[in-house]
Amino acid sequence: MRHLSLLLASKSPARLATLRAAGIEPAVRVSHVDEPAVLSQVRGGPSQQVLALATAKARAVLAELRAEAGFEVFSTTTGQPASSFLSTGEPTRLPDLILGCDSMFEFDGQVFGKPRTPEVAKERLTAMAGRSGVLHTGHCLLQGTSGEGLSALSHARVHVAPMSEAEIDAYIASMEPLWVAGSFTVDGLGGPFIEHVEGDYHGVVGLSLPRLREMLAARGLSITQLWTQAEPAKGEESEAGREYLSRTRPFSPRHSADGFILCSCGRRHWGLAGAAGICAFRDHEGSREVLLQLRAPWSHGGGTWSIPGGAIEWFEDPQTGGLREFAEETSITELQIRGCHTADHGDWRFDTFIAGCTDGVEPVPDAESTELRWVCLDDVPANLHPAFAQSWPEIRSFVLNAD
Ligand SMILES: [Zn+2]
Repeated sequence: MRHLSLLLASKSPARLATLRAAGIEPAVRVSHVDEPAVLSQVRGGPSQQVLALATAKARAVLAELRAEAGFEVFSTTTGQPASSFLSTGEPTRLPDLILGCDSMFEFDGQVFGKPRTPEVAKERLTAMAGRSGVLHTGHCLLQGTSGEGLSALSHARVHVAPMSEAEIDAYIASMEPLWVAGSFTVDGLGGPFIEHVEGDYHGVVGLSLPRLREMLAARGLSITQLWTQAEPAKGEESEAGREYLSRTRPFSPRHSADGFILCSCGRRHWGLAGAAGICAFRDHEGSREVLLQLRAPWSHGGGTWSIPGGAIEWFEDPQTGGLREFAEETSITELQIRGCHTADHGDWRFDTFIAGCTDGVEPVPDAESTELRWVCLDDVPANLHPAFAQSWPEIRSFVLNAD
């Protein structure tokens, strides 16, 4: 296998030190992301917030690099060309991979980013002493030319030791806690105050090395390919890895939460903020039918049957997102929601809303569908999308019993 270059889209010294200790010397480039603006679009909790920020950081750095290299720049929010540049002089060498990360601490139902001031740090550390919270870290790994990526989360419960007021004051006076998520470090002066960690230690530092390895593996690559000095694992790079690295066509998301997440279930899913769809049903000539979609060959799960739906936006609740996706893909907007089936995977969920539709309403497919078809409940095609096939028996019985 060959060595791969990595660019870290973060100014965190702890993340850089984590990679270096693991034999990886990345290039570093700080992203210019308006974090409050990104967060103002995120409806969900800390997991969603760190995922949105990690992804925004990696995509922002990629957009800058592509611009410098003379590529057309795509807006990270609309996916439309934002501007185009003509290459002048030496072309910028694009890294093989770009990694963005973000961390937040969830404590007592609140989400703590960096405290920034001694007053806020004191208030938080006083509350946290002797108790525990969960550190969430989001990761986004992008292919350095196309921008095709994979995002993933790590979560770890952190138990803080009881601290005296003198210890808290001394720790704050060191300035260390002011600029780190949750007001503590586990790998610095704060280390002695962290009694133990349940979960991945490196995720608490700000970059989970095991998650990084899994993200690479999901793309057919090996963490050993990132080693700067040591030799990568012997053997050929996988076909999937070679193919992934060779893509140059820019990935242009329609919405900023479009993208793949490596779920806690071990599989890759579409929709960083989760996904939702509508199982529309009608009564037609004495039998109950559902509206199924044969997914276009180029789309995720192409060539299989499921229901119209897709990734929801960061700011949408599942029902709003599911109805929007359904309307885009069928042009049907008149529905009566009767219930919801949720497949909750922890880091990702798919909500299927069961909705009644008037007989006679016919769908108009968009580019995402090869075909849309009203199908009798007992005649659903055999080649269902695997995730939909798993939920179908429950959804079917709900549809059957709906008024
Ligand atoms: Zn999953």
